[in-house]
Amino acid sequence: SVVVVGSFNVDHVWRCESLPAPGATIAGRYSTGPGGKGFNQAVAACRAGADTHFVCALGDDAGGATARELAAQDGFGLIAEASSEPTGTAGIYVDARGRNTIVIGPGANAALSTDFLQQQQALLTGAKVVLVQLESPVQTIEAALATAREAGVTTVLNTAPADAPSTIGLLKLADVITPNETEFAALLGRHVGERVDANDVAALDGASLHALCRKLVGNGTVVVTLGSVGVFVSHADENLRGDTQPYYRVGAEQVQAIDTTGAGDAFNGALAASLAQVADAPFARHVRFANQFAGRSTEKEGAAAAMPRFTPADAEALR
Ligand code: ADP
Repeated sequence: SVVVVGSFNVDHVWRCESLPAPGATIAGRYSTGPGGKGFNQAVAACRAGADTHFVCALGDDAGGATARELAAQDGFGLIAEASSEPTGTAGIYVDARGRNTIVIGPGANAALSTDFLQQQQALLTGAKVVLVQLESPVQTIEAALATAREAGVTTVLNTAPADAPSTIGLLKLADVITPNETEFAALLGRHVGERVDANDVAALDGASLHALCRKLVGNGTVVVTLGSVGVFVSHADENLRGDTQPYYRVGAEQVQAIDTTGAGDAFNGALAASLAQVADAPFARHVRFANQFAGRSTEKEGAAAAMPRFTPADAEALR
């Protein structure tokens, strides 16, 4: 099974002509829906066919009730710490050009405790894959990774968002880290003093990218997601995870992308699902599946709502 530890937010979205200036009051088309990287990734893992459990913290409010309902509808387990804080929220303004301004109210997500994680020890150690992001307290994520690692469970760390507090202690607890270009540049700047512009990452040659990945994590695999370009994979020489090459690229799927929100979440959930379901396959096969799944998620509007439904076996049958 896949256990995702992370955040749930109620997203409130206003689509406006332009973003409001300080002091302005404007009108916009409103919609609301579930969000939070943890929740989105749990939906993706579940729809990619894995037996999935999502560990999070929820307030005693309508948002919390929504999370439980949606998880039940999609068919994954939700294990929530009851918080006296409100359920997480995000206020999102999107202008006519698709640019956005976002305010997050972490609420209960910031209160997910290490104690609660420790109570989920049996769940974590019984999983095939534990997947975490950086929208929860660092100590809690560390506890989840350390518990899983000790039990020989495969650990995947999605180093998102880019401005999260120090993560250096987490990197060595992960078998696989999955930054996007922005997060990769941020990690390099913060942890190994390498100044790389996020916009230049995709254009770097394979050997240079591989060398940067190796500076960041001695052991462990790095998967850099490159948006519409695809994915770059870098393994430590000691552990190629069934692959024949230490580094390589996988090109993005040819799709009609209309909304790339949550593409990274789709990728991470699907990667974890594939790692759990066909554990002995070469790593490249998991990456190809996740790349297909994430590509397809961009063909619909929304994040969790846009996740397709297909499994590694379906993908194999198509080949
Ligand atoms: P994030 O959502 O974190 O910014 P990316 O933009 O890197 O993450 O996207 C994650 C993955 O989603 C990519 O590696 C790719 O597999 C897929 N993807 C994203 N945008 C597209 C696109 N326009 N066409 C095809 N696949 C895409």
